Amino acid sequence: MAADEHERAPVSGVVGPSGRGAGWYHGDCHVHTRRSHGGELTPQQLTAAAREMGLDFLVITEHNAASTPEEWAPFASDDLLIIAGQEVVTETGHWLALGLEPDQVIDRRAGLVDHGAAQVHQVGGLCVVAHPHAPYPSGTFTHPMHGFDAVEVWNGPWSSDLPWQADNETALAQWGHALAQWGHALAIDLHQGRWRPAVGNSDVHLPGQLGTPQTVVHTEDLSAAGILAGIRAGRCWITESAEIGLSVTAHADDQHAGIGQSLGTGGQSVLVDVTVSGVPSGTVTLHTDRGQVHRDVLPDNGTGSLEWSTTAAESAFVRVEVRHPSGYLAALTNPIILAGDRSWENPQRD
Ligand SMILES: [Zn+2]
Repeated sequence: MAADEHERAPVSGVVGPSGRGAGWYHGDCHVHTRRSHGGELTPQQLTAAAREMGLDFLVITEHNAASTPEEWAPFASDDLLIIAGQEVVTETGHWLALGLEPDQVIDRRAGLVDHGAAQVHQVGGLCVVAHPHAPYPSGTFTHPMHGFDAVEVWNGPWSSDLPWQADNETALAQWGHALAQWGHALAIDLHQGRWRPAVGNSDVHLPGQLGTPQTVVHTEDLSAAGILAGIRAGRCWITESAEIGLSVTAHADDQHAGIGQSLGTGGQSVLVDVTVSGVPSGTVTLHTDRGQVHRDVLPDNGTGSLEWSTTAAESAFVRVEVRHPSGYLAALTNPIILAGDRSWENPQRD
């Protein structure tokens, strides 16, 4: 693709593949090369690793620097979408700008977070709180969350050998657990009419880290605009690897909804179907605004299904966690929102 074609791209993609329609796509939205402090990989190595593990998209998020079309275009093709982004590293927390224009750089000064977020939104991008409880100086996110579209509750093993760490557990609890002591729990946000989806990314700096974890996004087509819209709407779930399969659907009467969607229940009872594969002897738990409401254990072969019933009056949402016998997270979904009034459509987005 010629350079002038990149400049005409309507939204943010450094290069966009074509011809892949509606579906679930795997990607990693927090990726560093040698241009970032501590990064050891080249664009060529990262894209080769992405293809090897079957990732469909990457968002390049160098520390306070742009990812340029010149650098990435040679490695993108119809099987791999590359989206421009940035990790905005400030002294009071890090955040991801996803879907920037080629060569666009967001100001890293902590006092300008609102301004930076507005710049990202102006070009159709997303602002994501990165590893909000990371255990190193400046890693803990202390900005107010307003202006942020999503939260990275699962950040990869870049500073340790473990795929799941205590700071992720804290971020997940803050985001999704009922009665969290923090002000931005999913249940509280939802009652206020807006909620922030969860995402998970590797934050890859070293070989072997890409895609652990990865976010699986539903979009109408594999394009930068489609991926960003899917994340913005919470039509996504997080997995440790592509080896794990997970689907969740809620049914009421003749209606049904999937991850990130709202189900108008008309006051009818709701049946939630969950199917998981790839997590031997794993534990599947369902969570609502009342906390954990159901628990089931998968067989040795790692594949199983469960059903659970509720009503919109009882549960404002339902979301799923899958854990290994070790307790480490294997997969996590965004919620399905249960709305008693059938006319109530996606009120969570402005
Ligand atoms: Zn990072």
